[in-house]
Amino acid sequence: MQQKITLRLLPQEATNESFILSAVSQHANVKTTAVSGYNILKKSIDARSKVIYYNITLNAFVNEPFHHSGIHEFHFKDVQKSDKKVIIIGAGPAGLFAALKLIEIGIKPIILERGKDVKSRRRDLAALNKQGIINPDSNYCFGEGGAGTYSDGKLYTRSNKRGDINRILQLFVRFGAPENILYDAHPHIGTNKLPQIITAMRELIISCGGEVHFNKKVVDFTTNNHNIKEAITADDTRFNGDAFILATGHSARDIFELLHKKNILIEAKPFALGVRVEHPQALIDSIQYHCKVRSEFLPPASYSLVDQVNAKGVFSFCMCPGGIIAPASTSAEELVVNGWSPSKRNNPFANSGMVVQVNQEDAYNNIRHLPIDAGHPLLFLYFQQMVEQKAFQLGGGNFRAPAQRLVDFCTNKISASLPENSYLPGLEPANLNSVLPNFIYKALAGGFQSFGKKMKGYYTNEAIVVATESRTSSPVRIPRNSETLEHPQFENFYPCGEGAGYAGGIVSAAMDGERIASVISNKISSIRTC
Ligand SMILES: Cc1cc2nc3c(=O)[nH]c(=O)nc-3n(C[C@H](O)[C@H](O)[C@H](O)COP(=O)(O)OP(=O)(O)OC[C@H]3O[C@@H](n4cnc5c(N)ncnc54)[C@H](O)[C@@H]3O)c2cc1C
Repeated sequence: MQQKITLRLLPQEATNESFILSAVSQHANVKTTAVSGYNILKKSIDARSKVIYYNITLNAFVNEPFHHSGIHEFHFKDVQKSDKKVIIIGAGPAGLFAALKLIEIGIKPIILERGKDVKSRRRDLAALNKQGIINPDSNYCFGEGGAGTYSDGKLYTRSNKRGDINRILQLFVRFGAPENILYDAHPHIGTNKLPQIITAMRELIISCGGEVHFNKKVVDFTTNNHNIKEAITADDTRFNGDAFILATGHSARDIFELLHKKNILIEAKPFALGVRVEHPQALIDSIQYHCKVRSEFLPPASYSLVDQVNAKGVFSFCMCPGGIIAPASTSAEELVVNGWSPSKRNNPFANSGMVVQVNQEDAYNNIRHLPIDAGHPLLFLYFQQMVEQKAFQLGGGNFRAPAQRLVDFCTNKISASLPENSYLPGLEPANLNSVLPNFIYKALAGGFQSFGKKMKGYYTNEAIVVATESRTSSPVRIPRNSETLEHPQFENFYPCGEGAGYAGGIVSAAMDGERIASVISNKISSIRTC
């Protein structure tokens, strides 16, 4: 007999296999020997009260042999001789999962990626962190695996209507992610494990007859009536296919500019901008777990905060417990920060984006000096770029970032010194009020004070605020038909993932890639049947 059981266990019990087994047998009212095993279905932490519990739901096998639920079987086809081919621009989660899905269906994907393979990319990250040298095609946003590769690898998404989240997680496990991502309430993989997973995906794509081309930056398209004919890369190679998936992410400004220049429809998309805040992890642990020192049986604590200040939404974004603040710029003279953490989340700092919603009026009021009108499709992109350039200047170059202690930030005072921190290129004490547009500065200052009331101890000068967290989502939407998912001007052109405005993280981008691949396959097979 199989029995679904929910246990509420103390942290030290929840990490003890034999304790769980005896709790299951008590629950099922049988001897321990009658329980042959169990599969965990869901695991979450309840830290609302002083005593912290794990809630574990599992499927126990009682008086019958145990079957490990295992992972799904995926059947990837040989697409070497497929008569149809799809050009995918960008090897981020959207592009890679689109390619995998096409292979399952039997269509050949050809991926064009501007950056390097995941291993070579690491050297460019080292040059950025240690010498302040940026490679505009290989950095934290660009290169194999996309922006999600050197990240925290958080796989939590609320976009459960956009696709099959479990299928995406199963695929990650198929390529080497740990199985606990299938049941943890807030799964994450970690920067140290993601590169191997991405490599395994590429190897599978190539072994099935798909193609992956690195250092192939798409710089133009040729068109033919209502179709895209070719994608042209910077080295003047031309790639043609039956369909084109554009999955270039939120930082491919040259692609947005290219589309605009070619009169291919794009729209301005409101986004959020702010700073990254970093606290000692031990402080966040003590606040969230109501203790002096975190128990060894609990993971480094996280938080999620949201408030309205001056009618503006202020919210935490992409929180990385035990993490590192990273320079996520893609161009010289622009400063962008983001965060990542290793699988164990064992760095001594906790960082999070803290951002404010930006609407059309806000953006336009701040870039009135530019010769554009308020309805310009690149409005938010120009606004974003302006703040990033100011931050770079205030940091003093080489991707040193301007920073302030948290209370000093809110009281508008340059910090006399900055505490130890995780940001490798280095920090420069500065007044961030001169980087951030006033409405953002005010909303953040109010937000931090209000968060300090929700989390006692959060509002402290032990924390630092670093500018600028500006790549929270795409500042542009590339429109598409809601059913056929095609761009309104081209029947074989499919904007996809975060850059096109249809995803906001690794899992939702992956789901969008799969969705586009399915739509393309239906279209191609209906053409075949006709
Ligand atoms: C440091 C960092 C940490 C993050 N942490 C998390 C996290 O923990 N969890 C989470 O869900 N999300 C996280 N994100 C966001 C997440 O990475 C993105 O939401 C996701 O990767 C979007 O997927 P995508 O495939 O749409 O685009 P991207 O991942 O941006 O991929 C786009 C790809 O297109 C390529 N490209 C761009 N222009 C061209 C061109 N002209 N020609 C050819 N190729 C091109 C790029 O090199 C890139 O590989 C993080 C992002 C960063 C930068």
